[in-house]
Amino acid sequence: MKAPTELVARLNAKATAMPLMERLKALRDALTGEIIFTTRFGVEDQAITHTIATADLDISIVTIDTGRLFSQTHDLWARTEARYGIRVRPFFPDADALETLVTQQGVNGFYRSVSARKACCETRIFDPLSLALVEAEAWVTGAQDGLSNESERASLASLDEGFKLVKMNPVYDWTHAQALAFALENRIPINDLHSQGFISIGCAPCTRAIDPQGPKGACHWWWEDEAGQSRN
Ligand code: SF4
Repeated sequence: MKAPTELVARLNAKATAMPLMERLKALRDALTGEIIFTTRFGVEDQAITHTIATADLDISIVTIDTGRLFSQTHDLWARTEARYGIRVRPFFPDADALETLVTQQGVNGFYRSVSARKACCETRIFDPLSLALVEAEAWVTGAQDGLSNESERASLASLDEGFKLVKMNPVYDWTHAQALAFALENRIPINDLHSQGFISIGCAPCTRAIDPQGPKGACHWWWEDEAGQSRN
């Protein structure tokens, strides 16, 4: 591929004005290697899955099953595979590492401190994510504005310094309401939790329904105050 920085600049210059499908096609056309889309089965993710599946784009759809997902997420996973005739490839935490983590910190030890929570996320999310992306040339996500870091939401495409690949969020500029409207219009299956006030879908013990007018960040890890201290 072209130098990643050049590709990122080109995608941001040309594809930002495009609709979702064209954005994904622009990324696919620019690369020859594997492109991985990691879904968490939120409505934004479902819009991307729908687009990849209906346009038959050569983009692999994978998910990280942390072992603490909502049952509604597994239900949607199955409904999505049935609707589109696809298989969403799962990546799981390493069994030995998980056993060590839970033995050391307890089954809900992540409530106890920020470091314990980060250790849990490392084992259950980031280590399997690293495996999922090991061969990838680019990474597609549906991370929502306000729930990800500044660099992720600043532009359509970016360079992921950690994984050393091109990262694209093709719905980076959508609102949650836009994603819901797109899903309704295209009869895309969505997570039942959205109708209960969940704007983001993550692990069950660490995600909650929130006031749609309030800060989006309050839906995850709400027990940690701004100084990074655990309240439990
Ligand atoms: S979100 Fe919560 S349960 Fe999931 S990996 Fe992180 S700390 Fe663990």
